Amino acid sequence: MAWKMKPIEAFFARIGDDPLICAFEEAGKIFPPSSSPGMGSMGKPPAWEGGVFEDFAVRLFLENAHRPLALYVHVPFCRHRCSFCPFFKNIATGTFSAEYTALLAREIDATAKTLGNAAGERRVDAIYFGGGTPSDLDLEDMSLLIRLLRKRFFIAPDAEITVEGGIRGFSAEKGRAWVDAGANRFSLGVQTADSRLRRRLGRFSRRDEIREVLQNLCASEATVIVDLIYGFPEQTADTLLDDIRFVSEETGIHGLDLYKLNLFSGSPLDRAIARGTMPKPPDFRQMAKMYGAAYEKLVACGFKPFTQKHWRRDNRERSVYNRLAFKADMIPFGSGAGGRIGDVSLGNAGVLEEYSEKISRGEKPLSRIAYSPRKQSPFGKLLDEALEELHLPALNQWPRDCRVDADKLLSQWRDAGLLRDPEEKDGGMRLTCAGNFWSGHMKKLLMDFVAQSG
Ligand code: SF4
Repeated sequence: MAWKMKPIEAFFARIGDDPLICAFEEAGKIFPPSSSPGMGSMGKPPAWEGGVFEDFAVRLFLENAHRPLALYVHVPFCRHRCSFCPFFKNIATGTFSAEYTALLAREIDATAKTLGNAAGERRVDAIYFGGGTPSDLDLEDMSLLIRLLRKRFFIAPDAEITVEGGIRGFSAEKGRAWVDAGANRFSLGVQTADSRLRRRLGRFSRRDEIREVLQNLCASEATVIVDLIYGFPEQTADTLLDDIRFVSEETGIHGLDLYKLNLFSGSPLDRAIARGTMPKPPDFRQMAKMYGAAYEKLVACGFKPFTQKHWRRDNRERSVYNRLAFKADMIPFGSGAGGRIGDVSLGNAGVLEEYSEKISRGEKPLSRIAYSPRKQSPFGKLLDEALEELHLPALNQWPRDCRVDADKLLSQWRDAGLLRDPEEKDGGMRLTCAGNFWSGHMKKLLMDFVAQSG
């Protein structure tokens, strides 16, 4: 059967009163259970050209020296499991901090030793401690790890060094000590400041604790940002707007990430909804309205969107790690950490026993080494980078064959309320609030559109 090209109208948005709700069709989404990167269940690591990390690391590292570099340290421990979370792995209890820090320190030392002089050939622009709840590490342990990474790798003087964490356990003393050690950004998962809803989701810190911790951290020299989520069951536009007002007016944060709830299949929250002990989350229409209201409120509170999910009201918030995540090489450290060097993706063992055994044998604790070149077309890459910065590529950057039609399509999307004209001559059209909300969908349409024109 001959492949039929879709008419340009098939890519058009609906024009209606509210583009947030009506621009395109949206099916309800539920995400499959998460599978952890680098889990032991992935079996024996495939050999990379018949070798192990220690055999190919230096060559691969130097071959990709033109790429930005970041270090990712995973701390897969939390005090308890939040009901919506697919990332929970291990309970933070007893002497976990000292024991896990000792393993991480050995991995950092061994990785730097494997890279040898090559480690000094590539500058690191970002270090990110993610989890889990890295802030549950003891004060001295995290300080040691930050100092060790700074000693073993070539860290740019303006590198962003982020410690992620939760409210309980992230004290003013830790904040000061970790800034002294070199951290300059703290990212806290608040998700919602509504104490009743927080308890229902398995988060037990109260609003006054959130206020106090954030105020104390903001008094350090670090940039402080929080995550908020919209779309929880029982959350309304009013509670979301109150969350934004609270973190904006009562805490002094410099930036904020706003995420839509991903309801993961099999998570405690998903099961509670299925049992009827939790109501259903807001439907798509309500979610879209919540996003629109939050967008307006954030602007009113002095925040500016500077990437798809990130907002800032102070230029010290740069979100370097997040912006590098899709294009940088990333060296993974810690159980379950994922990374990549060039076209080779790396996953550390996600089961603690396996991770620990490999470390004691002096190996890089990988359970996955896979050849996985990024399959993006040059236009796909350009589109991703532009969308992340909230615009589309300028028309003269589009494939030549589709520029005339692209101009028509983008004008239609502008009329539908998804785009606005660029401020600068020859720039790409900017996403409106609705355009930002629909950007994932718009990207899929544009990739189809360009593919059929090529
Ligand atoms: S603290 Fe964070 S990582 Fe841990 S269970 Fe809660 S949301 Fe998940």
